[in-house]
Amino acid sequence: MKEEIRAAYEELVEWADLIFAQTREKFGSLVKCQPGCTDCCYAVFGLFPVEAVYLREKFDELPEEQRRAALERAAEAEGQLMELERKLARHPDDPYMQNRIMARERVRCPLLDEKGECILYPFRPLTCRVYGIPVLVKGRAQICWKAGFEPGEKYPTFNLDTAYRELYRLSQKLLGEEEKAGLLLSLPLVLRTPVENLLNGNWKNKT
Ligand code: SF4
Repeated sequence: MKEEIRAAYEELVEWADLIFAQTREKFGSLVKCQPGCTDCCYAVFGLFPVEAVYLREKFDELPEEQRRAALERAAEAEGQLMELERKLARHPDDPYMQNRIMARERVRCPLLDEKGECILYPFRPLTCRVYGIPVLVKGRAQICWKAGFEPGEKYPTFNLDTAYRELYRLSQKLLGEEEKAGLLLSLPLVLRTPVENLLNGNWKNKT
């Protein structure tokens, strides 16, 4: 990844970390994130290409044993994600049902090891960094179910829509095209795709 793009990406996640830290400082008891809590590591989410490449480069620097174990977990998670896609496909025109299915689904992130720790924690995606504080997604406030923020009260909110726009812009710069910049890649897919392929927009879901 070009240094300029990497620097812009790191600046974005530093901003997310800053907002998280400020929120925790102000509303400490309402933020429930703590070592050992892995709730967000079972949520289904995707990565923009720029995050995918960044994370995949860091993954390649891990010891072989750790990588092998993560790839085994990724194969299992990919099977669960394919099953999820089949469930969603049964309700193609029903966003309500699709949202319900997505909300209930629990797929263990392959980067979560046997001890319940993220093996790439310092480099984790933006979504993981702000999971425990109020965020804005598609204009609506969302929050981890464990957090103590009260519905109806006003709190500072991290604007994920703005962050996603920046991730899209950086992905466009990285890939040199618009179409694939907006595609979200699952973590199992990212782990089994070499960096060069991700950079060329050359990745493939299992069918
Ligand atoms: S990348 Fe790390 S913090 Fe994020 S979901 Fe996976 S294991 Fe959890």
